[in-house]
Order: sequence, then C-alpha cells, then structure tokens
Amino acid sequence: MLRLFTSRLYREKVTITEMIKLYCRKVHNDSKELCDECSELLAYALKRIEYCPFSIDKPACNQCPIHCYKKDMREKVKRVMRFSGPKMLIYHPILALMHLLDRNRKMKVTSNLKSPKEVQSN
Ligand code: SF4
Ligand SMILES: [Zn+2]
Repeated sequence: MLRLFTSRLYREKVTITEMIKLYCRKVHNDSKELCDECSELLAYALKRIEYCPFSIDKPACNQCPIHCYKKDMREKVKRVMRFSGPKMLIYHPILALMHLLDRNRKMKVTSNLKSPKEVQSN
C-alpha cells in the first residue's frame, strides 16, 4: 500500500489495471476474470509503463509528446479511460485522486529520450 504513494510507476500500473478490470467487468462480461482482449491490452499497457522513456518523470500518457502506443492499442486504452476514468472516483477514490494529481504534474524534459520507434519496439 505504501508503494502506491512512493512509486509513481507502480501507481500507474495499479491504476491502469483497475481501470481495465472495471471496463471489462462492466462492458465485456460480469466475471472477475479479464477477457482475452482486455488481458492483452493490460499486458501491453503494463509493458509500455515499464519501458516508458520518462521513467519516474512519466507524464500522463494523454499529455505525452511521444505516444509510444500502437494505434489500435491507443484507441482501446482511450475507450477504457473514457469509460472507467469518471467511475474510478466511486470504485477507487484514492487512486483516482492520485491520478488527477499526477496528471497535473509538469513534465520534465529528459535529454536522453528514445525515439517513438525505439520505444514501440520494446
Ligand atoms: S512514452 Fe508516453 S505514451 Fe508511452 S508510456 Fe510513456 S508517457 Fe505513456
Ligand atoms: Zn474485456
């Protein structure tokens, strides 16, 4: 639990996991298990966070100048965000609040950033 407050990337991973779980449960099926499509999206999103060239200075993905997501995955994750974003305040208020704070953090520009192609190939 403490890690949620101290690690930015861990927090990102937990948040996207909960958002995708919520979306899948409400839109795809009523089970606790993720469907195949959402499992794939979650694995992809977690990998993007892991390889994010901004590392601990990672901005919110929708404010990112690189956009390392493949087009189809980007559309899928946007759909999830639109659906689950507002509902997170009800289901996961602490995560939602922290996500809002993270989103408003100013992005630091790092000089050794990889190009979008390099980032996507990870
Ligand atoms: S590079 Fe940009 S889009 Fe990709 S994970 Fe990092 S912040 Fe998100
Ligand atoms: Zn699903």
